Amino acid sequence: MDTSTKPLPSVNSWTKPFWQGVREEKLMIQKCTECGQPIFYPRMCCPFCFSDQIEWMEASGRGRIYTYTIVRSNAPSSFIADMPFVIAVVRLEEGVQMLSNIVDCEPTAVYCEMPVEVTFEKLSDEFTLPKFRPAQA
Ligand SMILES: [Zn+2]
Repeated sequence: MDTSTKPLPSVNSWTKPFWQGVREEKLMIQKCTECGQPIFYPRMCCPFCFSDQIEWMEASGRGRIYTYTIVRSNAPSSFIADMPFVIAVVRLEEGVQMLSNIVDCEPTAVYCEMPVEVTFEKLSDEFTLPKFRPAQA
């Protein structure tokens, strides 16, 4: 895969643990220690109770597809070679939702509520992307 022209994540102080985690093949999410809610995407304070008492935890990596689309045309030029590909919202077991790609299966085999698990796609020494594939039974 040619990643040279694809956009790369922009990392800041409060998303750094997430990107460090995926580099080590760990899917990290946040959890509020005040109200107990799991949090994703990374924030500086809890979106539920506004506490800044947030800790990181490793997610199971398992979830189900909440919704998805198959991109068959009109992708940005650096993604054309990947078509058709699946963009999905995955609801993790922990309760948070994550936007990612579904890989290692035919796009037409994807369905809502499909059980999936995280897999890691290394782009470079600096960046690894979490993607999801059908859960191995
Ligand atoms: Zn909270």
